[in-house]
Amino acid sequence: MKVFALPEKKTNQALFFDMDSTLYTNNEYAQSQIDLPVKRLAKLQGKTFDDMSCEIAMFRKKWAADHDGKTISLSNIFLSYGISMADNIRWREELCRPEDYLVKDIQLRSVLHQLASRYVLAVVTNNPVSVAIRTLSVLDVYDIMQKIVGLDTCNVSKPDRAVFLKAAQLCDVPVQQCISVGDRYDIDISVPLELGMGGILVNGVEDVYKIPGILM
Ligand SMILES: [Mg+2]
Repeated sequence: MKVFALPEKKTNQALFFDMDSTLYTNNEYAQSQIDLPVKRLAKLQGKTFDDMSCEIAMFRKKWAADHDGKTISLSNIFLSYGISMADNIRWREELCRPEDYLVKDIQLRSVLHQLASRYVLAVVTNNPVSVAIRTLSVLDVYDIMQKIVGLDTCNVSKPDRAVFLKAAQLCDVPVQQCISVGDRYDIDISVPLELGMGGILVNGVEDVYKIPGILM
């Protein structure tokens, strides 16, 4: 876990949680969210899954080389292959099966309850809002999250700054009083820091359990 530029403790502050690989740790499910859409794209392109995966890996590598080593989101890769954001959202709604992989997380529920006594809590995810609701419901934390910003809220994906600004606006908290929590620096942390927010880079939900010890 790595902590960046936390704001001083004040009233009216917000925590934005990335969802996948942040509020749960399940590599098999996380990988399925990459593999299943890539399989569908491969079919559309008349390629094998392996060829498509290799091509996307090359795309990521080239993109990173052209952008100071940064990471591109899968949604933005799909846009380059002509898959519109609307299609991407529909694919994710059809292909994501949180119910098949995740279970109730009592410890996460207790931690979020504790944090909710001081912070407005929001989920900021590159999955559609409906998938976020299903995921949070399986984890049994949906009722604790006050706002959800998904891929279909702004129709752009993180790290676009619009997504984080929208979350701050929905929470009615000044941007400088927000803290973004996530497992990918380039996607979840770097732009919030540029916007003047704080950031907490985690290695999965086990690190989220430790956040009250840092913030409370
Ligand atoms: Mg994530």
